[in-house]
Amino acid sequence: MERINHWIGGALAPTDSGRSGPVFDPATGTQQAAVDLGSVADVGHAVAVAVLAAEAWRESSLAQRTRVLFAMRELVAGHADELAAAITSQHGKVLSDAAGEVARGLECIEYACGLGEHLKGAFSDQVSTGIDVHTVRRPLGVVAGITPFNFPAMVPLWMCPNAIACGNAFILKPSEKDPGAAMILARLWSEAGLPDGIFNVVHGDKVVVDALLTHPDIAAVSFVGSTPIARYVMETGTAHHKRVQALGGAKNHMVVLPDADLDLAADAAVSAAFGSAGERCMAVSVLVPVGDIADDLVDAITKRCAELTIGPGTDSTSEMGPLVTGEHRDKVAGYVAGAPGEGARVVIDGTEDTFDSDGFFLGVSVIDKVTPEMSCYRDEIFGPVLSVVRAPDAQAAIGLINSNPYGNGVALFTRDGGAARSFARQVTVGMVGINVPIPVPVSTHSFGGWKASLFGDRHIYGPEGIDFYTRSQAVTTRWPDPGTSKVDLGFPQLH
Ligand code: NAD
Repeated sequence: MERINHWIGGALAPTDSGRSGPVFDPATGTQQAAVDLGSVADVGHAVAVAVLAAEAWRESSLAQRTRVLFAMRELVAGHADELAAAITSQHGKVLSDAAGEVARGLECIEYACGLGEHLKGAFSDQVSTGIDVHTVRRPLGVVAGITPFNFPAMVPLWMCPNAIACGNAFILKPSEKDPGAAMILARLWSEAGLPDGIFNVVHGDKVVVDALLTHPDIAAVSFVGSTPIARYVMETGTAHHKRVQALGGAKNHMVVLPDADLDLAADAAVSAAFGSAGERCMAVSVLVPVGDIADDLVDAITKRCAELTIGPGTDSTSEMGPLVTGEHRDKVAGYVAGAPGEGARVVIDGTEDTFDSDGFFLGVSVIDKVTPEMSCYRDEIFGPVLSVVRAPDAQAAIGLINSNPYGNGVALFTRDGGAARSFARQVTVGMVGINVPIPVPVSTHSFGGWKASLFGDRHIYGPEGIDFYTRSQAVTTRWPDPGTSKVDLGFPQLH
């Protein structure tokens, strides 16, 4: 059985904890590897190595860092197939989807390649007579990233390119469910010429997370995962004087106004609800048809669901793969089973589908006549389940969205520009799609939800990522002529 070790100081580093966790192949249901579950001492070792490496890396020129980032960009592009295969094998998503994830991660490296522009700073000439001020952004030191199972390559790449470009050392704690992609990234960073100790991977569970959150030499923590853990990470990290950005879970609504193109909306709803088996933080999990489009839309979605091909991610005919674990599959199925008892109508019951495999497969489900009190609406299910909440008008749809504790993504389908503009201005959600079901911003804009979908004041990657991984320093300078100074106890004023 393959054993997956930490990566510290540019080399594999087995844990001293004696603990490991299983890594499954979700398409077969069998264990394919065991991953180290690290200890407090492992974290201490990684941080000590990273502190030393960061001291040298912060002195590297922007030209040197840019060359490493460009090399990494080429290596990730060149190894996209290897990364996608690792993702499919441990996560279960279909290969084309895994390739899409790698492509979106690549974008974040490309953004970081512009570090010369991002770190340019600002200069004010002659702010007072003979005095200039310039502002630069300095690295923080050692920063950590804690990432979820559902994007094992992309989410680490939301963090580490910017963190490293800014002159920090980075410690990644990937999900213990699918740690393979992180190890490929570690190898590629090394091949790209990144000095040892600047990108490290420590595998594990709560033990490692807690050690990172409390270690005095870690300056900042980026977290992406479920809301309860995001809240915990924010509270624990800030109590230990760290800068924290903690992205949490979601319940994304897709509102369809009566004037929308029915086929476009139905295609989008099915794609966004069931892509990656609904295991996306930007998946559409609540459909909100407004007015009399509801019956036709549910019918159109039902027809499309019947045509979906579910199978192993490595099979090019599969459109949807298995869920990540058997436990998670059973939890998702429980929401569908419980829906009729709460008064909803299960239009398509994916729990009835059968598969010729012991993999963690589940069919797609559509639950109609859902109301906000029901558990399938309240909870983030994170599986292939679409709940339909019918709304009488657009204002009721906006009220529903704004009452929801989450605020990650939202989509509106309409042909009415005025209605779309007003919707975007009123919804309390961080990322809005107009006729775009999964509005993940490109890397030149930052990604982040509102409310219980993000704790902290900075979104991730893009310009806000650069802000997060640096601190501002203002330098005030003068070069007075000799003999022109005098004692002056007054507070400095401009003249
Ligand atoms: P998770 O919260 O279970 O795990 C995320 C990370 O936290 C993992 O590295 C895990 O090892 C660690 N962790 C788990 N339990 C912990 C505990 N008790 N104490 C300390 N650390 C712990 O999330 P997941 O199941 O891996 O991923 C799915 C979740 O992530 C969903 O809620 C999804 O919406 C969310 N997500 C959010 C975004 C976003 O951008 N907002 C993106 C992707 C995923």
